[in-house]
Amino acid sequence: MLRSMESVQPKPSKADQILETVRRYWGFDTLRPLQEKAILAGLDQRDSLVVMPTGGGKSLCYHVPPAVANRTDIVVSPLIALMKDQVDGLQACGYPAAALHSGITPEERREIEAGMTAGRYRLVFAAPERLLTPSFLSLLPRDGIGAFVIDEAHCISHWGHDFRPEYRQLATLKDRFPSASVHAFTATATPRVREDIVQQLRLDDPTVLVGCSDRPNLVYRVVPRVDVARQVLQVIGRHAKEAVIVYCISRKDTENMASSLRASGVRARPYHAGLDADQRRQTQDAFAAEQLDVVAATVAFGMGIDRSNVRCVVHAGMPKSIEHYHQETGRAGRDGLEAECVLFYSAADAMKWESLIHRSAAEASEPADVAEAAVEKLTHMRRFCSTALCRHKGLSEYFGDTYDRDGCGACDVCLDEIEGVADATVTAQKILSCVARVEQRFGVGHVVDVLVGADTEMVRRWGHQGLSTYGLVKETPRKALTNIVYQLVDQGLLARSDDEWPTLQLNDASLAVMRGEREVRLVQPQIKTARKTYVEEASWEGVDRGLFEHLRTVRREVAKERGVPAFVVFGDVTLRGMARLRPSSREALRSVRGVGDRKLKDFGKRFVAEITAYCKAHSLDMEAAAPDMHSDGLQSDDLTPVAARKPSSARQAAMAMFAQGRSVADVASNVQRTPATVLKYLVEYIEAERPESIDDWVDADTYRKVAEVADELGTRRLRPIFDRLDETVPFDTIRLVARHLEVRA
Ligand code: ADP
Ligand code: ZN
Repeated sequence: MLRSMESVQPKPSKADQILETVRRYWGFDTLRPLQEKAILAGLDQRDSLVVMPTGGGKSLCYHVPPAVANRTDIVVSPLIALMKDQVDGLQACGYPAAALHSGITPEERREIEAGMTAGRYRLVFAAPERLLTPSFLSLLPRDGIGAFVIDEAHCISHWGHDFRPEYRQLATLKDRFPSASVHAFTATATPRVREDIVQQLRLDDPTVLVGCSDRPNLVYRVVPRVDVARQVLQVIGRHAKEAVIVYCISRKDTENMASSLRASGVRARPYHAGLDADQRRQTQDAFAAEQLDVVAATVAFGMGIDRSNVRCVVHAGMPKSIEHYHQETGRAGRDGLEAECVLFYSAADAMKWESLIHRSAAEASEPADVAEAAVEKLTHMRRFCSTALCRHKGLSEYFGDTYDRDGCGACDVCLDEIEGVADATVTAQKILSCVARVEQRFGVGHVVDVLVGADTEMVRRWGHQGLSTYGLVKETPRKALTNIVYQLVDQGLLARSDDEWPTLQLNDASLAVMRGEREVRLVQPQIKTARKTYVEEASWEGVDRGLFEHLRTVRREVAKERGVPAFVVFGDVTLRGMARLRPSSREALRSVRGVGDRKLKDFGKRFVAEITAYCKAHSLDMEAAAPDMHSDGLQSDDLTPVAARKPSSARQAAMAMFAQGRSVADVASNVQRTPATVLKYLVEYIEAERPESIDDWVDADTYRKVAEVADELGTRRLRPIFDRLDETVPFDTIRLVARHLEVRA
């Protein structure tokens, strides 16, 4: 049956207009589930709060509405570097955007102001303090502003981890622009911060969209810290020529770290708030241009950087909250490809943070609950480091998400990489008895000196070279032993006084260990071997690595010629797509994710030429579509039973993404399989996991419609259902509902 005649040339629906825009500017074929909802809120000018993890695709959510509605929206962003990166990226896609900030010349300013008055831009970026100045306000047509977008909206809340007083002024937006909608975006917000954002901005009955905070493409590892420079170098060795950020606690640490890495031949530089603006800018630019691989940074670095292919984030010390950790590790793998996060941990960090918190509370005479809240955050962070529970689960639950998968396949715990120390109990007993011998009157440093048999002034002064425990573990390096002492403290097997000169003290647990009534588990300061994750395997599947590296060089050259950051040319996902499909024509290149109209025009010829030459020189097949790239999947109605199929990494990666409710098209582009193949995976997922609901893939109305007909006709054959519904519901949708009905029956 055909649909009625008047729908032959329908006005494009909102959804079609959105997709058309996304395809044209960015070369994406689909939207992620939350993106679609967030974009609709923007288009309908309904206030919204969107919480999506880094890399979740927040920016697209506010890029699209003004382009579809042909209006100008204003984006409030806290940092010039962030605005600049966004505007560069948008302009490379042919999208009209500009940023007004102190870093532009008077001519640029005049041009942008003229453009704003003429309504030439879809987006204009500005800092919060500029937004409410009379000169900026005079540029805005009073009723012509459709929407304000508040990026990094958690900055408005002092319950968050990055409070900025300038953001408070945004509360007046609703008074000044009663007809404009306000849309808040953030990556990291606990429920309390979310509430605070809604209140402060006075959002009116907002659409609240909270994505799952988990980042399945990140692998998390926590490793005891013994000799951090050497340990960091080892990690970086797994990421040769890739982008790495090493977070350090102090400015001095960043400088030491960078110079020790440089001494080993790594292209590394420090970055912290104490460097002058020029130096910082240079480092950021070199990093964005891929002329610099490693940046050793204090937290100051966190906000300003936008290199989407950071493949590794190292913490040389423990951050003071899970929010910080999540935001900083969030810089890794923003492009959705595999990335590694390693935290080098010692309980000494927690103790240092705690004394800092108390000191600053005393000095600033803050209300007591500020310090209390800080200590509570610290405790969560410390627990995350010191317990061997799935890291993905730990993070998710902290942010209020449930995580009910059995083993994430992407953390040191689930990958079974943590190695215990042999004879841990005996080592612990030696340490504890040394604490007893020095009469519980000394700190970690001295106890370790005695155990390794060091000849120090203190040892001599107290005659400790005469103790039976002197030199008892001289085979263990000092740093390694120090870490072990802190492991004991962390596990509560040894206490540490919290006065100015902390001393080690025995407690009941210590005595139980010494009497041999209690076993001790200690962790080695390195992982067994870094294992590959599903995401890593899937994202490299079919990719010619040599070609990928070659295309990175080409990208670097193009970026240099144009004076833009490398990511502005193409992201890694797109380069891997090219190195996988190896398109021989511009038309074929267009099918690679991330190649929109403008970039095809600007870079298409060059990249196709480079790919062709490379493939010739290396005898590589071109147009190497994935094996099932052209099957349309609609024909096969019966599917092989799950057990008969052999698992593939793409399938496994797909399963993990379905568990997060990601759309078929999104998964398809991530695992580089056709939507038809991914639909089969989704059917398997439904069969295996029996999810309570499948409303991430089929909306409730359609589901109900199909279920009603299936109730009458049965689910064995799908064609009759399809016909009965006048062909209005796609076959694939019917199949999903039918399988779901079966497994939930
Ligand atoms: P966030 O601002 O939430 O950290 P971004 O907006 O930087 O995330 O997007 C993260 C990455 O995902 C970018 O590389 C972007 O190109 C990609 N991306 C975003 N939306 C889509 C989509 N619908 N399809 C494919 N890729 C997308
Ligand atoms: Zn895990």
